[in-house]
Amino acid sequence: DAYLAAIDQANGALNAYVAVTADKARDMAKASDARLAKGEGGVLEGIPLGIKDLFATEGIHTQACSHILDGFNPRYESTVTANLWADGAVMLGKLNMDEFAMGSSNETSYYGPVKNPWRKKGSNLDLVPGGSSGGSAAAVAAHLCAGATATDTGGSIRQPAAFTGTVGIKPTYGRCSRWGTVAFASSLDQAGPIARDVRDAAILLKSMASVDPKDTTSVDREVPDYEAAIGRSVKGLRIGIPKEYRVEGMPGEIETLWQQGIAWLKDAGAEIVDVSLPHTKYALPAYYIVAPAEASSNLARYDGVRYGLRVPGKDIADMYEKTRAEGFGREVKRRVMIGTYVLSSGYYDAYYLRAQKVRTLIKRDFETVYADGIDALLTPATPSAAFGIADQDMASDPVKMYLNDIFTVTVNMAGLPGIAVPAGLTDEGLPLGLQLIGRPFDEETLFALGSVIE
Ligand code: GLN
Repeated sequence: DAYLAAIDQANGALNAYVAVTADKARDMAKASDARLAKGEGGVLEGIPLGIKDLFATEGIHTQACSHILDGFNPRYESTVTANLWADGAVMLGKLNMDEFAMGSSNETSYYGPVKNPWRKKGSNLDLVPGGSSGGSAAAVAAHLCAGATATDTGGSIRQPAAFTGTVGIKPTYGRCSRWGTVAFASSLDQAGPIARDVRDAAILLKSMASVDPKDTTSVDREVPDYEAAIGRSVKGLRIGIPKEYRVEGMPGEIETLWQQGIAWLKDAGAEIVDVSLPHTKYALPAYYIVAPAEASSNLARYDGVRYGLRVPGKDIADMYEKTRAEGFGREVKRRVMIGTYVLSSGYYDAYYLRAQKVRTLIKRDFETVYADGIDALLTPATPSAAFGIADQDMASDPVKMYLNDIFTVTVNMAGLPGIAVPAGLTDEGLPLGLQLIGRPFDEETLFALGSVIE
């Protein structure tokens, strides 16, 4: 009831929730109370969560914040949310996001932008919460849920977490099932939590993760007790500092934050090692070929017949064109056009195939430093703090918006785990995050290191 009241009060201004499931929340909470009264109950019994609109929730608003999925109420539950409910969690509602998770500011949502609960000192300018999981990050930061689900294809958990002073972890590709999560770029998409602190993130990830016969890319590996890794000694761990992440034009405060993070880890007994990931500079262009290519294929299913919106036409081709023209927003159309272009014959070898080769080189960069005995890498999470809603620079040039992902996309390209942890404030009082990148399936080390930094 306290969370529902808080949503009632603040959501009009923040626009973090696109659907509030108050009756369902109360029913689930009552069922939790009953289980607890009998001495039963799971690890998340009664914990109220917000769910990103990308996760299918049975009979409940699931639109990936796109007009094209109007009225779509799936008849199935995503594996990740089913895992959370099985552990006793309670659903408060569905959270705003960039349309089909394409964006870095939550401004591409059909439901309008989300406002960051943070503002610069003495300013009343509204800031973006980051994206695509902007609703998840804003809701957690504003106490409109105890934790939230999110997804990360190229930074969508870590960048909004950094912009809102929350913790977000993208686990290793395959750690969480993608089944029932609306697909964006299937070889990059991973679910993970956004939470108030590292411990909450560890507890939520343990519940979300599982092998799943319905997603053959999910991995059959025991899910460790992530919470137990918190507070574990980091003495002797070798932390790599990749020099390619010191990008031109990066504000001095980000460099200072990075040095501060290095000092904290050193104080805790970790060894700091300068390393090189030479192909980093190609990650962003390669990502913006691979992700749109996969998206253009995944989004072919929205044909006005099987899901959501249908705009009538004079014949089926006309109906299909009108539905897609009206149903998709500008950024989604841009991705579909780029994706179909790079996959078309004559361009496939020059763009798509080449980007896949670059992806292999990026992955090898990480394999090389890990083979040299590096346990994890420390980088800034974002090249800046949160920026203003309707920022002119970004609005006029989509590539400027894409630059937000410069520190996060490599991790998706290589399938590795990455966590963003709040590490300080700018002079103007905005949160900044640091990112830790781990070895495949070594989320535990990230939780151990993250708890030193937060
Ligand atoms: N901002 C990136 C994009 O627009 C990443 C999105 C994501 O991780 N879902 O593609």
